[in-house]
Amino acid sequence: MKLTKAIVVIFTIAIIIYRIFGFDDSAPPKLVVYIVVDQMREDTMDRLGDLFTGGFKYLMDNGVYFSETRNAQAYTVTLSAHFSLATGVHPGREGLTGNYVYDREANQMFYPVTDTLSRILSSELEPMSYRNIKKPTIGDILKETDNQSKVFSVAGKDRTAVLMGGKHPDGVFWTNGGPEYVTSSYYMNAYPDWLIKFNKSRPLHKYFGTVWERLIPDEKLYLERCREDEYPPEATSSWDDSTTFPHKFPSYSEGEEPNYDLFWDFPWVDHVTIDLSELIIKEEQLGRDRHPDMLMVGISMTDGVGHRFGPFSQESMDLFLRLDMKLGEFFDFIDKEVGLENTLIVLTSDHGSAPMPEHSTAQGHTAGRFGKRYRIMKSVINTRLAEKWGEGEYIEKIANGSLFYDFDILAEKKVNLRDLNQDVIPILLEEEWVEKVYTREQLSSDEPLDYDGQLLKNQFHPKWSGDLFPVSKEYYVLRSSVGTTHGTPYDYDTHVPLYFAGISIHDRMLEDSVETVDIAPTIADILGIQLDGVDGRVLELGESN
Ligand SMILES: [Zn+2]
Repeated sequence: MKLTKAIVVIFTIAIIIYRIFGFDDSAPPKLVVYIVVDQMREDTMDRLGDLFTGGFKYLMDNGVYFSETRNAQAYTVTLSAHFSLATGVHPGREGLTGNYVYDREANQMFYPVTDTLSRILSSELEPMSYRNIKKPTIGDILKETDNQSKVFSVAGKDRTAVLMGGKHPDGVFWTNGGPEYVTSSYYMNAYPDWLIKFNKSRPLHKYFGTVWERLIPDEKLYLERCREDEYPPEATSSWDDSTTFPHKFPSYSEGEEPNYDLFWDFPWVDHVTIDLSELIIKEEQLGRDRHPDMLMVGISMTDGVGHRFGPFSQESMDLFLRLDMKLGEFFDFIDKEVGLENTLIVLTSDHGSAPMPEHSTAQGHTAGRFGKRYRIMKSVINTRLAEKWGEGEYIEKIANGSLFYDFDILAEKKVNLRDLNQDVIPILLEEEWVEKVYTREQLSSDEPLDYDGQLLKNQFHPKWSGDLFPVSKEYYVLRSSVGTTHGTPYDYDTHVPLYFAGISIHDRMLEDSVETVDIAPTIADILGIQLDGVDGRVLELGESN
């Protein structure tokens, strides 16, 4: 009798303590929402932060911010970067050297997420999946640990959705320039009813015939934070020959097939992706029980707008203001449905982008465009080599920032790789855009490398990488005459924002130097699961409530 009484007293005290001191900090979140914004430079928050009122504002006010986060890769592109974000592993280990990978034997580029064994459920589009990639993602490990956890991934770009989704997710959806969100038979045999209904509502349709104007009518606010709207190095597009606001999106007549490809450098697809994310949370009941769920959200059009108008354009600024508002609505929705105190929100980016070279020049930097020169480099080098070694295509391909020798020709001509390197490296160094050149030997050896060399090594694979790796000079952009890009080891390409928010996380800025491979292991740690064999480490978020 006495014992029962004691148990009741202890239990009552425990309930009182729980009620007074709130949630149990050690309980894992019920839902993880992992948002990756394609091509978002770290300085975006600094430059535009005072105008944010929505989702970015929530993260700034409530999140742990790692201000020194780098995507530790030298060829900073979407596919390689997302692999690291989802797995915690550098992309070289999986041979993911770029968005496309060069196959020396077949003498052609291939897309690592193409899956010829499956099909797109509703169309003839090229099928995609994670089938050919081995390393499990954070979502895969979560599901292995708790088979009642659900993992979904959605994005504008197919490679983003597929790489973030991993091997065994519950659903992966992308639109990729089509009228609807699709998936392949790798993931499921039929679309869920809610997706059929969503696609039937033609969610992208309402944007045809609309006009993209500044969200804030006062241009002064834009001019204080970025450059003038009229800027000749900005690119036009097939649908829009203007580089200034307003941008009119084409309409189409009844019976005419609308062209959805046009959406790539317009902000709207991401808004529809977020609508779909909300639908997934609701319909799939994410975050409703003690089995943690994950939702990966890929924001893709930021990349297209960034390439076309550049990071300091009014268009790019406007897109981020609109995304901030949309993310604000999204977080409100999550709060209502799941509770932000039960949700871990992670937001980061795959890479940044270079300022337009003309902008860099105006800032006092030596800058340039080397797109035209790059395109003829193969023949420039082969012609020079032919003078010494006789006719032949010694360089068979330049891809993913590296030069591939034709080993058959080398064998035929009895040319030693080292001898050839000694001829090619000086030719490359004569180029205005080349800063330095690394060799396959350097990247394969255990000798310590400098920072850029290490970033190259993180992406190096003995089979799928080339033989020589020229690194462009800072502020030199691989574009011919307009637009900008990414794909270098420089800070403007590697430095990205990183927020952890929700659950019991406190607003805090941490200036430790961290890498994007650290994100997956950190999420795993918060979920109480373990990622083995990764390159990243678990980040300390500091004290919680
Ligand atoms: Zn890009």
